[in-house]
Amino acid sequence: MQDIAAKKIHQLKIWETDRGGSYPAMPPQVYEAVIDEAHKHGILVHAHATSWQEQRDSLKAGVDVLVHTVSNVPADAEMIALLKEKKPYWTPVMGLGDHSEICDNDPFVDQALPEKVLAEVRASTTCRPAAAAAGGGRGNALTPEQREANLKNSFMTMIRSGARLVLGTDSGVFPRYGIGWSEHHEMGMYVRLGATPAEAIIASTSRPAEALALKDVGMLAVGRNADFLVLNANPLDDIKNTRQISAMYLKGTKVDRDALLAQWKKSYAMSAATSSAP
Ligand SMILES: [Zn+2]
Repeated sequence: MQDIAAKKIHQLKIWETDRGGSYPAMPPQVYEAVIDEAHKHGILVHAHATSWQEQRDSLKAGVDVLVHTVSNVPADAEMIALLKEKKPYWTPVMGLGDHSEICDNDPFVDQALPEKVLAEVRASTTCRPAAAAAGGGRGNALTPEQREANLKNSFMTMIRSGARLVLGTDSGVFPRYGIGWSEHHEMGMYVRLGATPAEAIIASTSRPAEALALKDVGMLAVGRNADFLVLNANPLDDIKNTRQISAMYLKGTKVDRDALLAQWKKSYAMSAATSSAP
């Protein structure tokens, strides 16, 4: 932690979980010491915690940001009490495995991903749930409806108990979950699971700026950068309207989105030509 602090790093993510038994889990004594020392240096600690036990222990140890969602079982009373007391920032990261928008030929997604990636996902059983079910799945007894109900229950319990929602996506870890639409996808999930559009927008603008202690971005206000989108429809009516982008400004300067898209497509073509599978 002292080496990290010397590098002027202000945010740290720790991984507590055993990753399905492939690593030893980080013992609480270790992350308690990490969090204590980080706080002495003014460093915020984000915890990758994928069980209620880890999330509870992280909160008790004083973690600043909980990362990931537990939805296989409901939160217990102790977790709810800790959320009410600590009001942690929380980054659910739920959208990674949900490719429904790729399967549905959503034009907003089409412009954000290389054709090769779109074709691969569409050819897979991901877009054919019936075929996936016939193949026996992965031994998961839950139906998609049950999974959705569990997720909804967990998500709403977290935010209604005091967790402060912060947008986070894991975008970029797979080619099919690309930067540029995954953020809109995740915001759409928040609303699908029961948050209001305003909560989803706050979670994606001012709240992350607050969580990361960034003073010059996150909202339109005197002294902050004029970074904003002009939309053709009201996102408070439908969160999918965040995709109806008319114009984008960064520090008060209009961004040439057509030129960016052309550059983006060109880099796809280059990476498709140079990369070999897999
Ligand atoms: Zn993580």
